[in-house]
Amino acid sequence: GATIGLLGGGQLGRMLAEAAARLGFHVIVLDPNADCPAARFCDRHIVAGYDDSAALDELAERCDVATFEFENIDLGALEYLSGRIPVHPDAWALRVTQDRLTEKTFLRETGIDTAPFRAVDGARQLEMALADIDGGGAILKTRRFGYDGKGQIRFGHGADDPAPEEAMARIGGAPSILEGFVDFACEISVVVTRGRDGTVHEFEPARNDHEGGILARSTVPCGLDSIIMADAMEKTRALATRLRYVGTLALEFFVMDDGTLIANEIAPRVHNSGHWTEAACSVSQFEQHIRAIAGWPLAESYRHSDCVMTNLIGDAIDDLPQWARDGAVRVNDYGKAETRAGRKMGHVVRLVPR
Ligand code: ATP
Ligand code: MG
Ligand code: MG
Repeated sequence: GATIGLLGGGQLGRMLAEAAARLGFHVIVLDPNADCPAARFCDRHIVAGYDDSAALDELAERCDVATFEFENIDLGALEYLSGRIPVHPDAWALRVTQDRLTEKTFLRETGIDTAPFRAVDGARQLEMALADIDGGGAILKTRRFGYDGKGQIRFGHGADDPAPEEAMARIGGAPSILEGFVDFACEISVVVTRGRDGTVHEFEPARNDHEGGILARSTVPCGLDSIIMADAMEKTRALATRLRYVGTLALEFFVMDDGTLIANEIAPRVHNSGHWTEAACSVSQFEQHIRAIAGWPLAESYRHSDCVMTNLIGDAIDDLPQWARDGAVRVNDYGKAETRAGRKMGHVVRLVPR
C-alpha cells in the first residue's frame, strides 16, 4: 500500500495511524519524542524536530502523501515538504488556522460570527482594546500556540484585573488578540471532512463541557433544536469549502440562549470533541481524514448509539479499569509515559444504543 507521512505522534497521531493501518497504508511518524503515543502504532518513527530538514527529506522520499495532527508545526517546514509531496490539509489552510487573528478574520469573511476581537501587540494596544471591547468582560489570548485554555487572561473582574503591562508580561509579550467574553448557554463543535473531490461530510454537533479550560466531556446528541444543529453543520461545511480544505477539521461554537451561533476557533485536524465518532459511528473522524488525504471517497456515517465521551485527565487515567468493567464503555489509554496534572491521558466513551 501507499505510505502516509504524519507530522506529530500524540494521541491524535496514534488514532490516525491506527485508522490508516486498517485501510492498508504504511505510516511514518515524525515526532521528537521517542516514546510518543503513536510510536508503537506506526511502521517507522523518525525521532526529530518538525523543522529538521534531513527528517523532512526522509519523509518526502519514503511517503506518498503527508498530513499533520497538530497546528503548531512550523509553516516553513510544511511548505518545504509541500514542494516535494502532496500535503493535506495544505500549508495555506494551516497558515489561516494556526493564528487566531487570521482565523477569526477568515471566519468573519465566510459569514460566520465570532466574538468581537482586536489584535494586541503591547500594553498600550491592550488598553485601547479593553476600552473598545467593554461590557461583559474580555479574554486575552496568544495568537499562536495556545491549547487547553493555556496562555489566556480574563478581564472583567474590576479590581482583580491585571494591569495591561502585567497582563502582557504574563503572556511573554506574545502577539495576541483580545476578544469579548461570550455569555453562552453551551458549547458545541462540528467535525467535518472534505475529500479531495470537494465532497463534504460532517458529523452532527457534540455538546462540549469544559473544566478549567480543558475539554472534560462531549455529549451526543447535543440536545439542541434541530434547526440550530443544521445551522452549525451548514456553517462548518461552508468553512471547509471556502478553505478548500482536504481532511478533517473541527469548528467550535458558543451557543447563545436564543440559538445564535458564535464561532470560537478552528482546529485544522482531527479533534478531541470528535473522539466519540470512533465508538458511536460507522466511520470515525480518523478514517474519514485518511480517506480524504489519500484521495479515497468519504464513507457514509451512521451513528448507531447515543454517547458521552469523557476525557481522562491526569490521575483520572487510574480509573480506566473501573470504566472498563461497564460493557457499554469503550476505553482508550494513550499510553503516555508520564502522568501529569491537566494532561490528557486517555478517554472513555459510554454508549447507549439508540
Ligand atoms: P482548545 O484548543 O484546547 O480547545 P484553546 O486554548 O485554544 O483550547 P479556546 O478554545 O479559545 O482555547 O478557549 C478554551 C475555553 O475557554 C472555551 O472552550 C470556552 O469554554 C472558554 N472561552 C474561550 N473564549 C471565550 C470567550 N470569548 N467567551 C467565553 N468563554 C470563552
Ligand atoms: Mg485551540
Ligand atoms: Mg478550543
